[in-house]
Amino acid sequence: MSKGKLDLSKLAPQTRLIAAGREQSEHGFISPAVYHGSTILLPDVDTFRNRPYAYARRGTPTSKALEQAIAGLEGGYDAVITPSGLSAISTTLLAYLNAGDHLLVTDAVYSPARHFCDTVLKRLGIETSYFDPGIGSGIAAMIRSNTRLVYCETPGAQTMEIPDIPAIAAAAHDRGCLMMLDNSWSGGYYFRSFEHSCDISLQSATKYLGGHSDVMMGCVTTTKEAWAPLKAAYGAMGLCAGPDDIYLTLRGIRTLDVRLARHMSSAIRVAEWLRGRAEVDTVLHPALSNAPGNEIWKRDFKGSTGLFSIILKPCSDTALKALIDGFQLIGLGFGWGGFESLCSPFTPTRVATAWKAQGPAIRFHIGLEDPNDIIADLKDGFRRLTAAA
Ligand SMILES: *Cc1c(COP(=O)(O)O)cnc(C)c1O
Repeated sequence: MSKGKLDLSKLAPQTRLIAAGREQSEHGFISPAVYHGSTILLPDVDTFRNRPYAYARRGTPTSKALEQAIAGLEGGYDAVITPSGLSAISTTLLAYLNAGDHLLVTDAVYSPARHFCDTVLKRLGIETSYFDPGIGSGIAAMIRSNTRLVYCETPGAQTMEIPDIPAIAAAAHDRGCLMMLDNSWSGGYYFRSFEHSCDISLQSATKYLGGHSDVMMGCVTTTKEAWAPLKAAYGAMGLCAGPDDIYLTLRGIRTLDVRLARHMSSAIRVAEWLRGRAEVDTVLHPALSNAPGNEIWKRDFKGSTGLFSIILKPCSDTALKALIDGFQLIGLGFGWGGFESLCSPFTPTRVATAWKAQGPAIRFHIGLEDPNDIIADLKDGFRRLTAAA
């Protein structure tokens, strides 16, 4: 921007979303240009030796703007952007772990991340143990002399447990381990990872940062102290996201505040309605009073988003299919965080804890539709479920 550098740290979070990364724009344009390129021609040897941009894989003004916006959003030192959320996870794990190291991972982790730990990391001689997301400071007992990293997610993928991140981070730091968090659910906006003692905060930017179901993207932000290994591994692996996707993610960030506010209010509305239904056994939404995780959620979060789960009373698979297959508005699919409502039935993988639900579980993402229309879709669904039972 032309009026000199703003001190973003003095601005409210909502204002930071609007201002971050804008100094990369040129000629008075609000947004940075999208550079489709690989080679960057350098005018002379002196510039060649002191180049601001050398080669598009190593960064462009557009990627720099997105990195700055994400680091500002998360409140960390600096950020890298990766071509997907899963590559943000795999890059982070490879950046900090060596053969012979031990890793602690929440049992509620995003399941493709579990697969990466159990296959690639295992093959490289890195051992993973899973912990109960409700473990809190009890994690101390699982930390070994070779444990390097504790990897958590809040809330847990699908099952929505809210771990006590500050307590887990304190135990990790006590023993010289780094605390890594998947912060996708809060969009980095409603959970301040670095104010809760995390060293590394990553997201599937495919979800709320992109926000329109048209982009795959990931990001990792760290503290100053934790930055160097991540930056080195990221560069070494040759990761780079496409320029249009980078641009779309930056564009999504500008409206994060208003989108999340609507996701929050509509999801609470739908979750409260579901809680009153006879067909529903449990609503797993941490912002509902007396729901699992509500106490810690109130203490640590500034808001909730559109993603939550329910457990139905036991019913036949035919009844479950009748409910879901007939939805008119609520789509059936993965990849939440867009403007549309979605659902997906699930049975979680568990190794350190037991999943005791009797009935089938469904995860919902409540989009930006009028929640009354979503409730009407659900009401019709429960009519079909009852008729099929
Ligand atoms: C979707 C998701 C990921 C993976 O992100 P992609 O962008 O799909 O690779 C990681 N963590 C969580 C919690 C997710 O929901």
